[in-house]
Amino acid sequence: MILVIGGAGYIGSHLVKELIKKETVVVLDNLSTGHRVAVDQKAIFVEGNLGNEDDLKSVFSKYPIKAVMHFAANSLVGESVINPLKYYENNVGDTLTLLKVMLRHNVKNFIFSSTAATYGIPNVDIISESTVTNPINPYGRSKLMIEQILADYAKAYDLNYVVLRYFNAAGAFQTGEIGESHNPETHLIPIVLQHLAGQREKVSVFGSDYETPDGSCIRDYIHVMDLANAHILALESLLEGRNKTATYNLGNGLGYSVKEVIETCEQVTGVKANVEIAERREGDPGKLVASSAKIFEELGWNTERDLTEIIQSAWNWHQNQKY
Ligand code: UDP
Repeated sequence: MILVIGGAGYIGSHLVKELIKKETVVVLDNLSTGHRVAVDQKAIFVEGNLGNEDDLKSVFSKYPIKAVMHFAANSLVGESVINPLKYYENNVGDTLTLLKVMLRHNVKNFIFSSTAATYGIPNVDIISESTVTNPINPYGRSKLMIEQILADYAKAYDLNYVVLRYFNAAGAFQTGEIGESHNPETHLIPIVLQHLAGQREKVSVFGSDYETPDGSCIRDYIHVMDLANAHILALESLLEGRNKTATYNLGNGLGYSVKEVIETCEQVTGVKANVEIAERREGDPGKLVASSAKIFEELGWNTERDLTEIIQSAWNWHQNQKY
């Protein structure tokens, strides 16, 4: 059995849809931002907190868990700057509780959701796993702290782990059953699609004076189902003993500016956007693009969906959004 913490959230719920084809899945989620209906019906659902030792104990005592995948975190750069306490408590403190209870129950395989925000403002054009990490916001720091703690725990307690550093996840499950739904929404692609569907007056481009060709921020957008597949490969590598500790970037290796994303949304939907240039958002680096060569070489992972397909699937979800 695999325990998926945060399995009712955006990326977790998409992972569960794939994982359930191969494994029995237990989802633990406090539903603070996740959606109960997003959890595949074949998964066992437990409502509870990963920071609560009793909630964790009851899961680990009841089910024979062989690995934990940890998606439950706060993940908004801007919010982390305003409210760092929340980020250090939830992303660091609660994860430490989880690791403690896991080790106590002798569960030693762990997949950790990390982020491109661990790199800060990179000194290279394309980021590899050996690029220096120097996060510039509390969100990125909270994730890097856990990465460092995992390395120490691996040495001292024989913990096996894979850290996955996501770039910008977007898109939705192919059937349109589940997709991205945050309240409030802050992510670029859903915001643009809400605008193009008539639910917002305009789209703001946060900053047009970055050192990029069109002045807006460049990001590497990756389809959520490509991300899900990477998690399955990472899990198999741990369970089969091919990995003891590993860190991988997950991106497409292609950067798109905010303006290019808006244009691609216009092409997919056939609707013209009303775009305004706004101030930079605090904590945002100008460019984050991944090399994912390492996971390609070591685990055979590859991305299968490009930006247009990402936006098409997000638009398909948006038009019939169920939650
Ligand atoms: N962004 C923007 N307008 C918006 C929302 C986001 O210009 O309404 C920009 C943001 O500054 C960043 C990029 O779009 O450069 C992606 O932001 P998002 O919040 O989707 O993901 P993040 O990169 O913060 O994980």
